[in-house]
Order: sequence, then C-alpha cells, then structure tokens
Amino acid sequence: MAARGFIERHGLWDDEQRRRARDLPGEADARGLHLVRLAWADPHGAARAKSVSLDAFGAALADGYNINVATSTLDASGGRVFSSFTGGGGMGLEEMTGSPNLVIVPDPGTFRVLPWAPGVGWILCDEYFRDGTPFHFSPRHLLRRQIERLRGAGLGLRVGIEVEWYLARVVQEHLTAENTGLPGRRGAPVRTAPLEPGYSYHSETNLDLMQPMFSELARCYRELGLALRSLENEYGPGQVEATFAARDALGAADDYVLFRTATRQVCRRHGHFATFMAWPALANHFPSGWHLHQSLSGAAGEDNRFASDGGGLSAAGRAWLAGLLEHAVAGTVFACPTVNGFRRFRPNSLAPDRVTWGADHRGALMRVIDGPGARIENRAGEPSANPYLFVAGQIVAGLDGLERGLEPPPPDDAPYEASRPALPATLDAALAALEADGPYRAAIGDRFIDYYLRLKRAELDRFHAACAEQGREGGGDEVTGWEQNEYYDFF
Ligand code: GLU
Ligand code: MG
Repeated sequence: MAARGFIERHGLWDDEQRRRARDLPGEADARGLHLVRLAWADPHGAARAKSVSLDAFGAALADGYNINVATSTLDASGGRVFSSFTGGGGMGLEEMTGSPNLVIVPDPGTFRVLPWAPGVGWILCDEYFRDGTPFHFSPRHLLRRQIERLRGAGLGLRVGIEVEWYLARVVQEHLTAENTGLPGRRGAPVRTAPLEPGYSYHSETNLDLMQPMFSELARCYRELGLALRSLENEYGPGQVEATFAARDALGAADDYVLFRTATRQVCRRHGHFATFMAWPALANHFPSGWHLHQSLSGAAGEDNRFASDGGGLSAAGRAWLAGLLEHAVAGTVFACPTVNGFRRFRPNSLAPDRVTWGADHRGALMRVIDGPGARIENRAGEPSANPYLFVAGQIVAGLDGLERGLEPPPPDDAPYEASRPALPATLDAALAALEADGPYRAAIGDRFIDYYLRLKRAELDRFHAACAEQGREGGGDEVTGWEQNEYYDFF
C-alpha cells in the first residue's frame, strides 16, 4: 500500500473534498490541460500562484505543494517587511525563521478551467506548516474560523457583492524601464485611457462603448461559475459596477478573489486594463466602493434570519447591526486597507464618513433593506479590500452584537450631520483604532493583529517618506502619484 500523503496524514479534507479530488486528474487530462495554477490569496487579498504540470498537480492532490512563506511577508511593492533571516523571522516566531516553506493544499471544490488561458486549470489552496498546522497568517483560514464560530451558534452568513472598479484601454505598446520596479518601489503603472467620458450615470450609449469587454467578461464569469447579476456603467469615466448573487460567506470571498484576478487578466489579454484601486490619480476620476451585503441564515444556508413579518429587521438582525456599528471604527481597516481608500470618506459623497445606519439610505455606513430579502449593506469597503478579512471582520462584530443582545440606536435620517463617531480619516488612524481594540484581538488573536499592523505600517511608512520627499506631509487632500504607483496596477 502506498504511504499516506500529507493531506490524508493530517486529515485536511472532508469526504466531499476527497471525492472531488479523485476525479480531478482524469478531468484535467480529458479537458486537455497542460498546466494547473495552484493559487492562494496573500494578506492583501491578491491571488498568487505557481503553475504546475499535470503530474505535479496529481502529486499535489496527495501531498500538497511547497511554497516559500515570502508572499505573506512582502508588502504590495514586493518589499520585505520582516527580517526573515534573523531568529524568529523578525516576528519572534521560531517557525518563521529563514523564510521557510509552507505546504499549500488544493481545495478540490474550487477547481476551474480558465476560459481565457487555453489548457490552463486553476485551484485555490490553503496554506499549512510542514507539520500540518494551519498557517497562522492565512486569511482564508482566518475567515473559516469565524464561520465556525457562527456555525456554533447555529447560523451562517450570506454575502452579496456589489463592487465598483475602473475599465480602461492600455495605450502603451511595450513596458519600458520606467515600468519596472525594485523591492519596496513599484515601477510606474502602464499608461491607460478611459473608454467613455463618464458622468452619464447608467447611459446605455456609454455602456455600449464598454460592451465588447463586458460581453467577454460575462462569458468568462459564466464559465467560471461566478453568479454575476449585472454589469453597469457607473459614474466616473470607465467606472463599472458589478453585482453578484448572494451566497455563503466563504464561497463569496473565494469568488471575489477569482473575480478580481479573472477580470484583470481577461481585460489585459484584450488590450484593456481593470483596476480595483479605489480612487485612481487620473483626471476626473471618482472613487469606487465595495458594498458588502450580508444577512444571517441557518447553519446550512437556509432561511433569512434578518427578515421580520412586522417590517424592519428581526431581533437577530438588529443585534447584528448594533454589533457592526459598535465595532465599525476598529474594524474599518479590514474594509478599507489602503492609504487611498480613506479618501472616499467625505460628506455627501455616497461613501460614509461616520458610524450611521439608515433604512434604504445611501448616505449611511449601514444601509438596511427589509422585506423577504432583508439585509445590511456595509458601504465602507473599498474594492481592493481582502475579502477574507472584510467578511471575517463583519462576523466578529456582528456576532458580538448577537451574543450581547445589543440594540442599535435610532436610524440616522441625515447621516452626514449625525452626531455619531467619525470613521477614521486615514489609514494611520484606522490602524491605531484596531491596535487598541479588545474584541478584535480576542476573536482574531494578537499574533495576526500585530502581524497585520506591521505589514500595513510598512506601507504607510513608505507613503509618508514619499510625501516628505515632495514636501507634502501627510499627502494632502488630492490622490498622490505615490498611490497611483503603489495600487493602480497591483489591485
Ligand atoms: N462610489 C461610491 C463609493 O465610493 C458609491 C456609489 C454608489 O452608491 O453606487 O462608495
Ligand atoms: Mg455603485
């Protein structure tokens, strides 16, 4: 009998995963694949991958596949944030010394054939240490733990995604030296031009300027099994809104990773460009938000536990809302993790600026929709947020409200004038709020929170250094060139 592989030895799959895995090598072969991308999401929520041969894929379905831990220790510019080559990896954690290997384990249910890359498959993986322990900085493991807590209360979370992003055309034939970077300094993003003039909200004619790309994207989403509902012409020049049907929290976060990476790749293959940076430093652009719709269900996804016969939210829905509000300031960084995203929080901007809620109110942080599809729409998110952390942050907050039976304050009819706590105005302030927060530390653990703070502060330090160099302390009110450089072609 063959020796049991890493996955079997550590009991990392359930029956359903085992069953699905058995079919995958044959399926990959029958569909003419020559490579499979083993993908995982880094702490920024960006997809990283190794592409491996079918033989190596088959072996990875028993033993996993080795990767360097490095993608969890780099910031968005590829700069090394921690002293990996000193004892404890610069984190005081023995297991992080020397930038060691992790084992990534494919999650069989996430296998796809990429519609835009002939002969290439894709599968999402989970990271483990070599002794079979889940990797403590894996955002996907982190979300799974919060979902387990919710399941312990007999509940599940359903998440619907509504996200804005920019579609543009690439207007540069070749990359030049200017576009290349160094660790800690990204190269200039590729030059792009808008596809439509903007500010003709929902204009059908302007939508049609983007239709060829929309059609190609919709075809790919369908083949990938992503439950797209709509693609619309939003406000700014080339700004798009995409909405997806609600589903279970982990599936929605996985879908978001695949949606973003697919959109960016498909567009690029057609000479176009997609960015999930919130507010590009380009003429006349308008910020993009990621609105997260959420409702509670039973543990198996049944029922809407926010719905109430008498209108408004159920008691569980009100308690969840109260928890979201109570922890909104400390958890802002999970919804809005970049220097750039905080610029959205301005009065009368359609983005929130303080901790408010309202019934079907688009000026509030939490927009509550009642009826059979009752849900809470959190409007703080920016499109580049890490979906696992954004959703996990909501569960920590909502569950606390539920466990303590909190009641929300009365709704805010004029949210931009309400006397409620302000959302953090900068990434610096948001990180300080998270650092001081007890409930997030208790639910997520000091180890992850302290790691995440250091990662984000390294980004912030580079931002402040660049601003100081230009005599523009703190960056000012306008989006800076540094942000454009850092985020436009990373997210
Ligand atoms: N673009 C706005 C934001 O940054 C949202 C606009 C809308 O409500 O559609 O949040
Ligand atoms: Mg919108």
